[in-house]
Amino acid sequence: MSIREIFDTMAYGPATENRSEADSWLNEHQNKFELLINGQWVAPQQGVYFPTTCPGNHEELGQIASADAADVDAAVKSANNALADWVALGGHGRARYLYAIARQIQKHARLFSVLESLDNGKPIRESRDVDIPLVVRHFYHHAGWAQLMHKALPDHQEIGVIGQIIPWNFPMLMLAWKIAPALAMGNTVVLKPAELTSLTAILFAEICQSVGLPDGVLNVVTGAGDTGAALVEHPQVSKIAFTGSTDVGKIIRRATAGSGKKLSLELGGKSPFIVFEDADIDSVVEGVVDAIWFNQGQVCCAGSRILVQESIAERFETKLKARMQTLRIGQPLDKSIDIGALIDQTQLDKVKSMVEMGVAEGGEMWQAENCEGLDGCFYPPTLFTNMSPSDSLARDEIFGPVVVSMTFRTPAEAVALANNSCYGLASSIWTENINLALDIAPKIQAGTVWINCTNMFDAAAGFGGYKESGFGREGGKEGLYEYVKEKSDKALTDTPATIKVEPAKAAKKTGPIFPSIDRTAKLYIGGKQARPDSGYSLTVKSADGSVLGEVPQGSRKDIRNAVEAANKASGWATTNTHNRAQVMYYIAENLSARHAEFSERIVQSTGVTIDAASAEVDQSIDRIYTYAAMADKYDGAVHSVPSRCVTLAMNEPIGVMGVVCPKQSALLGFVSTVMPAIAMGNRVIVVPSSDYPLVVTDFYQILDTSDLPGGVVNIITGEQNELAKVLTEHYDVSAIWYFGDSQGSTMVELASADSMKRTWVSYGKYRDWSNPQQGEGDVFLRHATQVKNIWVPYGE
Ligand code: ADP
Repeated sequence: MSIREIFDTMAYGPATENRSEADSWLNEHQNKFELLINGQWVAPQQGVYFPTTCPGNHEELGQIASADAADVDAAVKSANNALADWVALGGHGRARYLYAIARQIQKHARLFSVLESLDNGKPIRESRDVDIPLVVRHFYHHAGWAQLMHKALPDHQEIGVIGQIIPWNFPMLMLAWKIAPALAMGNTVVLKPAELTSLTAILFAEICQSVGLPDGVLNVVTGAGDTGAALVEHPQVSKIAFTGSTDVGKIIRRATAGSGKKLSLELGGKSPFIVFEDADIDSVVEGVVDAIWFNQGQVCCAGSRILVQESIAERFETKLKARMQTLRIGQPLDKSIDIGALIDQTQLDKVKSMVEMGVAEGGEMWQAENCEGLDGCFYPPTLFTNMSPSDSLARDEIFGPVVVSMTFRTPAEAVALANNSCYGLASSIWTENINLALDIAPKIQAGTVWINCTNMFDAAAGFGGYKESGFGREGGKEGLYEYVKEKSDKALTDTPATIKVEPAKAAKKTGPIFPSIDRTAKLYIGGKQARPDSGYSLTVKSADGSVLGEVPQGSRKDIRNAVEAANKASGWATTNTHNRAQVMYYIAENLSARHAEFSERIVQSTGVTIDAASAEVDQSIDRIYTYAAMADKYDGAVHSVPSRCVTLAMNEPIGVMGVVCPKQSALLGFVSTVMPAIAMGNRVIVVPSSDYPLVVTDFYQILDTSDLPGGVVNIITGEQNELAKVLTEHYDVSAIWYFGDSQGSTMVELASADSMKRTWVSYGKYRDWSNPQQGEGDVFLRHATQVKNIWVPYGE
């Protein structure tokens, strides 16, 4: 074609990226790749390898070692051996390594990009301009956190050996999100890359060796799901960080239940992309391209659900179709393509069958005709309209270049549709009216909200889900907490703190204030006392064995009523923090006014001395004050990200929480767990100590007289583990705290998997609630909140 003809047609020619350096690297390894264990490249013990191919043309790129449980064991042991020296190196020492790694990746950025595009099928334009620069940024940023760890997190320490399992959609970026914070905080790592995309992880491991990273600090075990499962199950692994499908996330939640392993899960999504009628439509159309055709739509936070205001839907659709027609699909290494290949034939088949299902369900499908003549895992950009929110295509994650567009009329309807999903990973809001955007942002149940932008990421901003999109954050200071534990955890004990019991003396000194029998408490639901559905009561005895009274035996039905009441009290979440604090001070004041009565009740119930009981009431009042004080001081943050945005990291309540109180310190344990939860705007269903429930049932009157809206605190007495199970299985309960025995802890973690609840359990360890180091603090507030990062356009 002559230049004149090109000017006439403006047709694209091929502009293929040079792959010779990548080929040399593959050749140097004779296209065969081993496992990195303890600083050595070793063959898998069973000698099994599997191929990795380029999805653009099915070319085999190499043979990858398949690690079995014995290989994983060796890798974990090596990480364990390397741990003490890595911790001892200190923050500055670790910062220097992370900095060196960042520098080296930067120097070999093109090799990484080419290899990534070859192995994954993504356009070189994306791996070169998005993935790898973000990887580099992540290591620099976390080199900084290593340096600052002792100042930023003085009460925290490393967790130990971390098992990290990552998916194939962003092989290097997911690796960086996992490895950089883990190493910065002093942990050692065993990484399992996705079986379809192992190559850049291997190149990365070589880079780590080249900068002299001590042997065993990073180990790489390649392989499929079995390799991942062996890592999850290994007893010396102290934490699993996983990104991948919701199904596997649930398997991992169950597999780690009761083990004490810390867990972070970043799972699927069906993120809403909300377009208001005053939005700049041309920007919106480019936004959709980035939202759903970036990485062929194989993005967990892809904006796969467009919600467009009805008044502009037609104009928007016309413009979108025109733009779709101009998207170029082609070989990943072609520098002028927009869309590359899907990861493999299986994924392609899955996308095709979901699209067929969408058509069968009555959806109107429109596809651009730009995929012809390509022999690889290619699929055209696809738009579905005329769908209802209950259709499977509008509900289920597709993980391909397919977007569903639906309409809404009012902002309230947009919010309702956006939140009508079991997922809550991300969302974007498009409007020229910043008031409207900032009104909608807090109402969306998602870990990330992008305003007039989409698919923006940065190491300084946290990323992670609400609801079934998982829990934990990656990036930002909030992400660091996933890789540390409280130093005070070491002081938790296997037996309860000893309480001085002198029943005879107590009884003599105080004399009974309450009648010792026939005091029958009720349940507390929606701000009212309620009889139990079961019609049964449990007898409560005093320390000397005499009958003190009775409490209801709460059951499934009572929990259901309590959850309903808690749901209705949703206004508590948006009550301003000053007012929340005022209510809590009032609770403290009312407890103070009844100090003597509660002290007596504790003496009767537990048999401790009146002085000990009185001290527990004092501490309870003090603790309520602490959380009342914190209600308007546990601020979020503004992250400075290197783009024309700021990111508001807001601490939001989780929703309805179940709280199973410790058996000991009935009053202080109740106050220490319930107050931080409500201070942050949650509503709670509390199961009080089954040994001393009357101390808590007496508390109803205090709640009644303190202006606390009905339904914010609901109290169900009864058998704690039975009620904990019901609470954990309830889909409208979003988090559960359990301070009981180890079997109960396992049960809670197991039962939480289906609804992907946030859990915080004690594994049968005891806190000394009277010790502020263990009984109060930010850790309670962190567990009572989830961070939403809102990206707001800002500056130049
Ligand atoms: P995707 O749909 O993105 O492939 P998967 O959840 O299947 O998501 O895979 C994500 C990662 O989880 C991969 O590295 C995969 O090998 C690993 N994996 C798959 N099954 C298991 C399992 N049962 N236990 C641990 N890891 C697993």
